[in-house]
Amino acid sequence: MIRSDKKHMKQKKKPERTCIVCRKKFEKRDLLRIVKDKEGNLHYDPTGKMNGRGAYICSDPHCIDKFMEKNLLNRTFKTNFDNEQIKNVKDEILENFKAVSEEDMK
Ligand SMILES: [Zn+2]
Repeated sequence: MIRSDKKHMKQKKKPERTCIVCRKKFEKRDLLRIVKDKEGNLHYDPTGKMNGRGAYICSDPHCIDKFMEKNLLNRTFKTNFDNEQIKNVKDEILENFKAVSEEDMK
Protein backbone atom coordinates (compact mmCIF):
# COMPACT_ATOMS: atom_id res chain seq x y z
CA MET A 1 0.00 0.00 0.00
CA ILE A 2 1.36 3.32 -0.97
CA ARG A 3 0.78 6.25 1.20
CA SER A 4 1.52 9.60 -0.18
CA ASP A 5 2.82 12.07 2.27
CA LYS A 6 0.84 15.16 2.62
CA LYS A 7 2.55 17.60 0.41
CA HIS A 8 3.33 20.93 1.80
CA MET A 9 0.21 22.80 0.97
CA LYS A 10 0.57 26.27 -0.22
CA GLN A 11 -2.07 28.24 1.54
CA LYS A 12 -3.31 31.19 -0.31
CA LYS A 13 -4.70 33.66 2.09
CA LYS A 14 -7.72 35.15 0.54
CA PRO A 15 -9.67 37.59 2.59
CA GLU A 16 -12.75 35.89 4.01
CA ARG A 17 -15.77 37.42 5.59
CA THR A 18 -18.84 36.00 7.23
CA CYS A 19 -22.29 36.49 5.77
CA ILE A 20 -24.40 38.18 8.44
CA VAL A 21 -27.39 36.05 7.49
CA CYS A 22 -26.17 32.46 7.12
CA ARG A 23 -22.90 32.95 9.04
CA LYS A 24 -20.92 31.07 6.45
CA LYS A 25 -17.57 32.27 5.29
CA PHE A 26 -16.98 33.47 1.79
CA GLU A 27 -14.30 35.20 -0.13
CA LYS A 28 -14.69 38.86 0.33
CA ARG A 29 -15.17 39.53 -3.36
CA ASP A 30 -18.18 37.20 -3.48
CA LEU A 31 -20.07 39.12 -0.86
CA LEU A 32 -22.19 42.21 -0.91
CA ARG A 33 -20.77 44.85 1.35
CA ILE A 34 -22.63 47.36 3.45
CA VAL A 35 -20.66 50.08 5.12
CA LYS A 36 -21.35 52.28 8.06
CA ASP A 37 -19.32 55.42 7.62
CA LYS A 38 -17.89 57.73 10.25
CA GLU A 39 -21.04 59.81 10.33
CA GLY A 40 -23.05 56.68 11.04
CA ASN A 41 -24.65 56.52 7.61
CA LEU A 42 -25.25 53.28 5.80
CA HIS A 43 -24.12 52.67 2.26
CA TYR A 44 -24.17 49.80 -0.11
CA ASP A 45 -20.60 49.49 -1.29
CA PRO A 46 -20.22 47.64 -4.58
CA THR A 47 -16.53 48.55 -4.79
CA GLY A 48 -15.61 47.11 -1.40
CA LYS A 49 -13.33 50.04 -0.85
CA MET A 50 -15.44 52.47 1.07
CA ASN A 51 -14.11 53.52 4.44
CA GLY A 52 -15.96 52.41 7.49
CA ARG A 53 -17.16 49.30 9.20
CA GLY A 54 -18.45 46.68 6.85
CA ALA A 55 -21.12 44.02 7.02
CA TYR A 56 -21.34 41.30 4.41
CA ILE A 57 -24.10 39.31 2.81
CA CYS A 58 -23.54 36.45 0.41
CA SER A 59 -25.35 36.51 -2.89
CA ASP A 60 -27.53 33.52 -2.05
CA PRO A 61 -31.12 34.60 -2.78
CA HIS A 62 -32.26 33.11 0.52
CA CYS A 63 -29.84 35.29 2.38
CA ILE A 64 -30.92 38.33 0.43
CA ASP A 65 -34.54 37.53 1.24
CA LYS A 66 -33.85 37.06 4.90
CA PHE A 67 -31.82 40.18 4.98
CA MET A 68 -34.73 42.10 3.49
CA GLU A 69 -37.18 40.66 6.00
CA LYS A 70 -35.16 41.13 9.11
CA ASN A 71 -33.41 44.04 10.55
CA LEU A 72 -29.95 42.60 10.82
CA LEU A 73 -28.09 45.84 10.38
CA ASN A 74 -28.93 47.31 13.76
CA ARG A 75 -27.72 44.15 15.41
CA THR A 76 -24.62 43.83 13.29
CA PHE A 77 -23.50 47.39 13.78
CA LYS A 78 -24.95 47.70 17.28
CA THR A 79 -26.60 50.89 16.13
CA ASN A 80 -30.16 52.03 15.79
CA PHE A 81 -30.40 53.28 12.26
CA ASP A 82 -33.53 55.00 11.19
CA ASN A 83 -35.83 52.96 9.03
CA GLU A 84 -35.35 55.32 6.15
CA GLN A 85 -31.63 54.60 5.98
CA ILE A 86 -32.09 50.88 6.20
CA LYS A 87 -34.71 51.00 3.50
CA ASN A 88 -32.44 52.97 1.21
CA VAL A 89 -29.62 50.48 1.56
CA LYS A 90 -31.95 47.57 1.02
CA ASP A 91 -33.33 49.23 -2.09
CA GLU A 92 -29.84 49.71 -3.45
CA ILE A 93 -28.97 46.10 -2.86
CA LEU A 94 -32.21 44.88 -4.37
CA GLU A 95 -31.68 47.01 -7.43
CA ASN A 96 -28.20 45.73 -7.86
CA PHE A 97 -29.23 42.17 -7.26
CA LYS A 98 -32.15 42.34 -9.65
CA ALA A 99 -30.02 43.92 -12.31
CA VAL A 100 -27.90 40.81 -12.23
CA SER A 101 -30.52 38.11 -11.86
CA GLU A 102 -33.60 39.40 -13.64
CA GLU A 103 -32.32 41.55 -16.38
CA ASP A 104 -35.48 41.67 -18.39
CA MET A 105 -37.97 42.06 -15.57
CA LYS A 106 -39.19 45.46 -14.72
ZN1 LIG B 1 -25.44 33.97 3.40
